Amino acid sequence: MLKESEIRPDALMAGQAERLANDVRRLLLHKGSFVAVPCPACDSGRWQPAYRKYEIQFVTCSDCGTVYANPRPRPEQLAEYYSASENYAYWNQFIFPASEPARREKIFRPRVRKVLDLCQRFAIPTDALLEVGSGFGTFCEELSKTGVFRRIVAVEPTPELAQTCRQRGLSVIEARIEEAEIHEPVDVVVSFEVIEHLFSPREFLRKCHTLLRPGGVLMLTCPNVQGFDVVTLRERSSAVDHEHINLFHPDSLSMLLSACGFQVIETQTPGQLDAELVRKQVQAGQISLDGQPFLQRVLIDEWDRLGEKFQTFLSENRLSSNMLVVGKKPSHG
Ligand SMILES: [Zn+2]
Repeated sequence: MLKESEIRPDALMAGQAERLANDVRRLLLHKGSFVAVPCPACDSGRWQPAYRKYEIQFVTCSDCGTVYANPRPRPEQLAEYYSASENYAYWNQFIFPASEPARREKIFRPRVRKVLDLCQRFAIPTDALLEVGSGFGTFCEELSKTGVFRRIVAVEPTPELAQTCRQRGLSVIEARIEEAEIHEPVDVVVSFEVIEHLFSPREFLRKCHTLLRPGGVLMLTCPNVQGFDVVTLRERSSAVDHEHINLFHPDSLSMLLSACGFQVIETQTPGQLDAELVRKQVQAGQISLDGQPFLQRVLIDEWDRLGEKFQTFLSENRLSSNMLVVGKKPSHG
């Protein structure tokens, strides 16, 4: 079982909070020129208020239930935000190195196995794979160890992270995917925790579609706004923040993939942290389970007996707050 402290070591998170606050302040300087958008999943303009966090308004689409920041920073404001982020530089320097063994073992190796399993089950060729937002480079490095793909391309726009990927010997394109020049099509595109950050998920998915050979697959992971920790903690959930401007759920993301020409072949919620994240906030006195005796029993009183089983139940029934969706570009047409 994965523990939050393994991927976000407590001693390092205080330093991270300060840098994050600076990033938020920098982004909010542009607040007056944020732009209103329709639903990123279904394009509807009908919504209801959902949360406010860091002075940003999140709304729930009345038609599909996607939650999204509206109004939101413009594309050029987001580009500037990420290229100058203190928080990402800090993660690259401290948090990723300290947490890499646990991430490698419990997050990236399972993802590598998942990709290889998909290729086998759907008879996908394994000539080339491209990762959008390769971050610290752990996934590409683990995948290259298997020797299965002839060519692995890492696309990473954040300078410090792109440099880390290069130091690992990976082939890196330091650009946002929307602007990256990629001429040879690939068999597999993967993108972990990226789509929730993008101004236009639709444009991103169309770009992924053009990068793929017919018959190729796209594998995405992102927060699930209908998962246990987000529904329970609402704006207190770490999934709700100024960077996560698109909060889909399995059905709304599947619908968007279909609209962009993909056939959805798998949706899962492999998240492992929901129960622990809620439990921690209860223990810290940030939320109360008064009037919630069932959750009090599962998350606190009988945690040792039930906690892990409860999380497994969430993960296996599309109820976790981290989801995985796989789309296939049809072979014909
Ligand atoms: Zn919608």
